[in-house]
Amino acid sequence: MTTTITLVQGDITHHSADAIVNAANSSLLGGGGVDGAIHRRGGPEILAECRALRASRYGKGLPTGQAVATTAGRLDARWVIHTVGPVHQGPDSDPALLASCYRESLRVADELGARTVAFPAISTGVYRWPMDDAARIAVETVRNTPTAVEEVRFVLFDDRAYEAFARRLG
Ligand code: ADP
Repeated sequence: MTTTITLVQGDITHHSADAIVNAANSSLLGGGGVDGAIHRRGGPEILAECRALRASRYGKGLPTGQAVATTAGRLDARWVIHTVGPVHQGPDSDPALLASCYRESLRVADELGARTVAFPAISTGVYRWPMDDAARIAVETVRNTPTAVEEVRFVLFDDRAYEAFARRLG
C-alpha cells in the first residue's frame, strides 16, 4: 500500500487526523511549543495519561527516538502519539534518532490502526535542529518506512518550515 504525503501550513491542534504526533520532551509532562499547544487545546486527560505512563512504563522518561500513544482528549483525533526528538548539538544529537521518531510514531500508529497521521516538524523548535536537514530526514524516513497508514500529513507552523518540506517533497 502506498502512503500519501501531504503538507499543510498551520496549527496542528486545529487539524483532524486519527493520530496527531506531539514533539514531546522525555518527561512527558508537557512543555512549550507544539507540546504546550497540544495539552492546552487537548485538555487535562492527555496529561493524566502521560502521568500514568511516567508512573508505569517510563519512570526515567520516554527515551529520545521512541514513541508512545495516549488519548487525544478534546483534539479532533483519536490518539496523540508522543515522541521525543533529539536536541541539536546536545548529547543525543544523532540524525538516526530524529529518523527514529518518525519510524516509531508510524509503528505505534500501525499498532493502533490509525489511517491518517499528522506530524509537526519534530526537533526544529526549542531543540534547534536545522530546518532543511529536519525536513530531509522527515520526508526520507516516512517514504522509506513500510506502514499501513494511508496519509501522513506534515503540519508546518510557519512559511520557513512549509517551504523546507515542500522543497524536499519535490
Ligand atoms: P522541539 O522541542 O521538538 O523542537 P517545538 O514544539 O519547540 O519542538 O518545535 C517543533 C516545531 O513545531 C517547530 O517548527 C515549531 O515552529 C512548530 N510548532 C510550534 N507550535 C506548533 C503548532 N501548534 N502546530 C504545529 N507546529 C507547531
